[in-house]
Amino acid sequence: MRPIAIAGLVNGVFGDPALYIDFRFEKRALLFDLGDVGGLAPRQLLRLTDVFVTHAHMDHFAGFDRLLRVCLGRGPLLRLYGPPGFIAQVEHKLSAYTWNKVDRYPGDFTLLAHEVAPDWRLQAARFRSHARFQREPQEGRSCADGVLLDERAFRVRATFLDHGIPCLAFAFEEKTHVNVWKNRLAEMGLRVGPWLAGVRSAVMEELPDDTPMLARWRDGEGTHERRVALGELKARALELVKGERLCYVTDIAHHEENAAHVARFAADADLLYIETVFLAQDGEHAARKLHLTAEQAGRMARAARAKTVVPFHFSPRYMGREDELRAELERARGGIPADIDRDQLPAAAGARACLPRTQEKPVNKPVTDTLPQVGAPDPERKNSPIIDESEYDEHEASPDLEIEEGVCYFNDEAFEIGQTVRSGSELLQCSERGVWVRKGEKRPLE
Ligand SMILES: [Zn+2]
Ligand SMILES: [Zn+2]
Repeated sequence: MRPIAIAGLVNGVFGDPALYIDFRFEKRALLFDLGDVGGLAPRQLLRLTDVFVTHAHMDHFAGFDRLLRVCLGRGPLLRLYGPPGFIAQVEHKLSAYTWNKVDRYPGDFTLLAHEVAPDWRLQAARFRSHARFQREPQEGRSCADGVLLDERAFRVRATFLDHGIPCLAFAFEEKTHVNVWKNRLAEMGLRVGPWLAGVRSAVMEELPDDTPMLARWRDGEGTHERRVALGELKARALELVKGERLCYVTDIAHHEENAAHVARFAADADLLYIETVFLAQDGEHAARKLHLTAEQAGRMARAARAKTVVPFHFSPRYMGREDELRAELERARGGIPADIDRDQLPAAAGARACLPRTQEKPVNKPVTDTLPQVGAPDPERKNSPIIDESEYDEHEASPDLEIEEGVCYFNDEAFEIGQTVRSGSELLQCSERGVWVRKGEKRPLE
């Protein structure tokens, strides 16, 4: 299963930290750290819904002004999260400007700033353009589990690390995907239907196995109802696919407590972005600056058993010597496991996700051009059935098709419900029932 989002460093390894996390199935993005964001097009900045700031050193927060300027009068709501003192820092940034006309702008652009207190209380304050960005305190909540954002498909978790000041580290955690095997469901005497949405939620919420689920479906003979235990469904008809976990750790001093904490927080991360600021030969300087050397970062990544590691936040003093930093980190880490394809490393994916503005596609490009081109179905590979729109009926799944619900395959690649792809000039959309539905040859321009 491919991850739901693609991450990329906005400014490469030497520039200000900013990791852009772009969702593959919706017009939405998250940002970890708000350094210089001049490399992101307005269109990319407007996709941001949530921005997480590790700490307010300039290289991590100086992009605030550009983001604000682009969103003003356009974006509806932007949530910001940061360490202790963050709400006041946002307020001070805003109060550095004169806002006598902003209340007449059409949209009421709103910033919702959150700050994580050391006791894990999440304080919040609202700043609305129509209220001239005056601070409006909001009710706080506890986030003892470190979860700052909890949504249907993912959550963002934070932890505190020491950088001379409290500094946050973040994890983007995809939740488990639930696939339903329709043929196995049939063996249990059950049929697909909207009731499976409740089953998926129950699995996500980790309800106990003896939780009764009401299976309800319609066919030619009318409506059927049956109770079945969640555990039985899980054992016989569901496939749980573990989501991926991306961790982002930067600006930390090297000491035992931090090292142990990173090992726990980033344990078994699929992807670990970790600061790699200095070479070990400049270790004393690194200690004075409360940063890590490549060797220290490598040892932390090794202790965490992170599968893929992306070093970043290189000191500009090593310009042209970045291979030395990477090599030192890899040595300390014990090398790249052989099963990882180097071409698929996130640095490459990131380059695609965060092209410089000049290389971006124009915003008004036809939608069809941005849809993935999957080519022709290869009979040797896994493909979900392709049917005409007229054949598709939500309530009458053809019993002879052995398909998974909730996902469509095209040449072994899984796609989520609602995703449209181009197969040649034909448009195919993944339906609820796990079949591709033909949507014609062309789609009108937007
Ligand atoms: Zn920094
Ligand atoms: Zn810093």
